[in-house]
Amino acid sequence: MVTPDPEPTPEPEPTPDPEPETPEEPETPEEPETPEVPETPTGDYAVQRGDTLYSIAISNGMTVAQLKALNNLTSDIIVPGQQLVLTSGGGNVVTPPTGNEEENAYTGDDLPDLTNAEVTAVNYDVKLNGKVEPFRSTLGTEASPISVVDHFGERFTVTNELTIGGETFLELTQNGIVSGYVPVSAAVEVPQGVKTVYLDAGHGGSETGAYHFGTAEKDLNTVISNRLADLLRGQGYHVYETRRTDVEVSLTDRSQATNEIMPDIFISIHHNAMGYPNTGTARGIEVLYHDPRIDEPGYETLEHHESTDIIPEGIRLSQALQDELIAATVGTGTVNRGIRPQNLHVTRVTDVPAALVELGFQDNWTDYQLITNTNYQTKLVNGLLNGINAFFTGIK
Ligand SMILES: [Zn+2]
Repeated sequence: MVTPDPEPTPEPEPTPDPEPETPEEPETPEEPETPEVPETPTGDYAVQRGDTLYSIAISNGMTVAQLKALNNLTSDIIVPGQQLVLTSGGGNVVTPPTGNEEENAYTGDDLPDLTNAEVTAVNYDVKLNGKVEPFRSTLGTEASPISVVDHFGERFTVTNELTIGGETFLELTQNGIVSGYVPVSAAVEVPQGVKTVYLDAGHGGSETGAYHFGTAEKDLNTVISNRLADLLRGQGYHVYETRRTDVEVSLTDRSQATNEIMPDIFISIHHNAMGYPNTGTARGIEVLYHDPRIDEPGYETLEHHESTDIIPEGIRLSQALQDELIAATVGTGTVNRGIRPQNLHVTRVTDVPAALVELGFQDNWTDYQLITNTNYQTKLVNGLLNGINAFFTGIK
């Protein structure tokens, strides 16, 4: 610890950048969920174990019907080693999907009839994270499917697995009532009957975050995140953490891990700074969230979030955290900066309700004394815990 500077003379406050030390990482283009199919120079493809007509079709930018027509297939059954034609003449491989195509890849005609599928009774929870698969309401093909994107992020209990022609579909229920059926690729299993929280301690490793009065932000973030994780587990939550130790993790790795897990909420933990050496005049606690109003070119709200409750629930989560942080620190002289939208990678790209908390200004001597004090840190941890409980009980 260096000798702290005296408290600076108050001056007009510029709006601080909450994350001046974190340049926005370039967006990784979204890849289709299905693995890429190797291409031979002729455009032919040897069926591999685990392939389905659907997975091959979508990897090559065609529908199952097109793939079947191209190969004169009369059934949906394919076997490993079977050669399939992927080109419609001229030797040109069909352009694979760009990953931005979020329209339904199936038509009603492509859907296998599940009435005669092999049924396996199961009992586990999933969240839907598919973008191109069909969501069908019936076992038969009489009803047109809708896109699974319309149910993106929703939690269901799977009661039956239906297998036909090598493809597996999940029977989705909510409160014991069947909601519909999706291919297995459209869902990810989540812990049953347990609320899940992803805690993201900001920065780490060579990325110190803010660094003022001899303290690195990354270390303050870890103290709060680790203590909060332990308390949440004690209350029965299932907790995922970006890191518990001083390691570097890219922003993309943070969001990708979140999106593979599909927790119920994502909370990134940070401390603030105005960006000048130890002379910050801004103080207080704020919580940041994503909102389409602050979209910038190249950093737009993801299309598959638009029709979901991901954004409104992220705002509700942010308000619950802010309210409880302020309630827990009452009498300490901290400042309530409120909640506001800010275009940040981890709150924009994560596929779940997300909030980024800024627990105090490290470059302000008054705030610094608070956020490095163990008793005050306990108040912050309790505030975050109360905010999470309030969010899940619907009180906030
Ligand atoms: Zn930070």
